[in-house]
Order: sequence, then C-alpha cells, then structure tokens
Amino acid sequence: MTTDITVYWDDRMLDHEPPKGAFKFPDTPIVAVPEVHPDRRERVENIRAMLDHAFGDRSETVSPESASRAALERVHDPEYLDWLIEFCADGGGRIDDTTTGLNEHTYDAARVSAGAAIAAAGHALDEVGRNDGSALPYALCRPSGHHAQPGYADGFCYLNNVALAAEAALASDGPADVSADRVAIVDWDVHHGNGTQEAFYDRDDVLFVSAHNDHGSWHPEYHSQEGSIDEFGEGDGRGYTLNVPLPPGTGNRGYEAFFERIVEPAIAGYDPDLILVSAGQDAGPSDMNGRNIVTREGFREMGARIQRLANETADGALALIQEGGYQPSHLSFATLGVFEGVLGQTVELDGYGTGDPFEFLDEPTELVDEWLDDAVDHHRKSPVFN
Ligand SMILES: [Zn+2]
Repeated sequence: MTTDITVYWDDRMLDHEPPKGAFKFPDTPIVAVPEVHPDRRERVENIRAMLDHAFGDRSETVSPESASRAALERVHDPEYLDWLIEFCADGGGRIDDTTTGLNEHTYDAARVSAGAAIAAAGHALDEVGRNDGSALPYALCRPSGHHAQPGYADGFCYLNNVALAAEAALASDGPADVSADRVAIVDWDVHHGNGTQEAFYDRDDVLFVSAHNDHGSWHPEYHSQEGSIDEFGEGDGRGYTLNVPLPPGTGNRGYEAFFERIVEPAIAGYDPDLILVSAGQDAGPSDMNGRNIVTREGFREMGARIQRLANETADGALALIQEGGYQPSHLSFATLGVFEGVLGQTVELDGYGTGDPFEFLDEPTELVDEWLDDAVDHHRKSPVFN
C-alpha cells in the first residue's frame, strides 16, 4: 500500500478553545444561549474522519515537533511571543474587543500547529526531484495562522504557520536537507492573508498571492491591511504581493479563472523552489465567515491545478497548510475535494457519490470577471509578469 498523504497532526491542537459568545463575538444577554466559537474542534475532527474514510491506509499521520523559539522568532517579535505565553498562562480570554480568544492551552497548541507547517514544508523540499507520486505533506493546523502578524494575534490566529514554514524553508538550518531560495505562497482562504503579507511585504524571496472577499481592514490596530490590489509590496518586495479581491458569490468558475489568469502565470514567472498553500476552505457555500460558493468540485479543480503548477515550476515541491473553514460539515467535503484534485483521484462517498451536498447557488460571472480584469490589469506591473 502506498502512502498518498502525510498528515502532520497532533491531538494537542484540540486543546485550544476560544471563549463562547454570540457566534464569534463576545457573549451578550441579547443572545440567550452562548455559542461555541466558530474555530471549534469539530472542524479538524471532521477533516480527519473524512481523510480516514476516503483514503484509509493511504493516509499516514505524523506527530510534529513543536516549533522552537528560534523558529518562531524568524517571523514573530520576541515581545509578542512573551505576551502570548503570559496571556495563556493567565488563563487566556478574549483579546480586547476582538473576535480572537485564547485559553491556557493556546500557545502550546499554536506551537504544535506551527511545527506541523514547518515539518510539511521540510517534507516537500526533501521530496524535490522525486516527482514520482511521493506522499503529499499536509499540515492540519489548528489554530490557523495566516492572520497572525509579527507582533499581533488576529483573526483566530496566533502564530503564522505558513510564514514560519516559508522562513524555515528559506533558512540554511531549516527542516530539510536542502533549503529554498524562493517560496511561493498561494492563499485561497476566503479571507485576506494579511499576516503573511505583513511578514514578507518588503521582500522578493517570497511571492504571496491571495484571493479573498473584499472585507477590508477589520480593526485599526490589529488588522489595518485591506487586501486591496494596491497593497502590492514595497521596496524589494514591490510586485511580490498580489492581492485578488473577489466579489460575494464567487464560485468554481471564478476561482478557476483566478488560477488561469493570475496564479499560474505569476508562479511560472516567479519560478519558486517550493509552493505552500494557505488552504482554508472557507470559500464554500454556507460558510458563516465567508461569502463565496466554491463546491467540492471547485476545490478539486484548484487541487489539480496547484499540483500541476508545482510539478511544472517547483519539481513537485508542494505542501498544504490548513487555514480556515467554519461550516464543520462542508469543510470536510471541500478539503476532500482539494485532495482529490492534488492526487488525481475522485472518491465515491457512500450516500454522496462524487458530488457536494451544499451545491445550490449560482455565481455572478460577469461581476467576477470585472473584478478579475481589474486585478490582472493592475498586477501586470509585477516583475513576475515580465
Ligand atoms: Zn478564512
């Protein structure tokens, strides 16, 4: 039996639990029954069950080491890390007036989560040149990372897993036998990967491409980035941050066009040694934190395209890093779609076949194309397109 997927996972990631409230907001007497926070453990438990069901023995689980302090300091400010440790040691709670909360286990869970991402990146680099169907590394991270900035927790994220993985891959003393000179990060989570953008904004050794809802800045202090096409990088990094806001209702066709018109030419032009995906499947229909309608079939297409792109540009070096996805059932169907695409296998599920039980909305195709036209026109100025 061959192994198709190596899942970097440890049960300690279940110990993190943000406080209950009115959906993701603080508890209020206006709402009679406090609700479990949307970053609930069922999200990742369902993904694990789906992978077991769909792939069985062909999926192996490896427990990663927690990320070391030195690895964390490649991205995060020491003062911020000290604050995070202390906040958790004091029992956690909500950070000021934000939707982000912690418990006493969050720092340890986040370090394991970061370790999973770093291990997955190292695995992908070690497989370079072995383009023979070796196992796909997948970091099943919880908590997620892409909103965590060097000095702030933000958007249910504490340590920026994908940024830490990219930095580890670039480091000469990283987790792989070889290091990368250039890393491309594709962020298809429905929210802007503002923390990742912030970490690499003035650098050209990491290309950051993000498609997301046009949600803008959501906090003047903790989340000032807007994810607009005009946030394009600065200094050496100018043209290496490519934001692609998408209108509400963008679905399979729009995301396919995002790949065709932006991701594929940009990454081919950049020629990375490693591709990391900030794989949040919250662009699905019914996601309570998203606005888009991508189905299992759409995620399957994205999975197939990213694998093909990795083969063509990076000797197959590809790792998936789990980000968001909040409808706890759909997330598992959407994530299955990604794996079906990457592995080139369509799985027949009992009772569901190869379809998506959440498929019921149509996409505003003209509007999607108009927004994509704007992004393509703007991003032509990037060195990767020249
Ligand atoms: Zn998200």
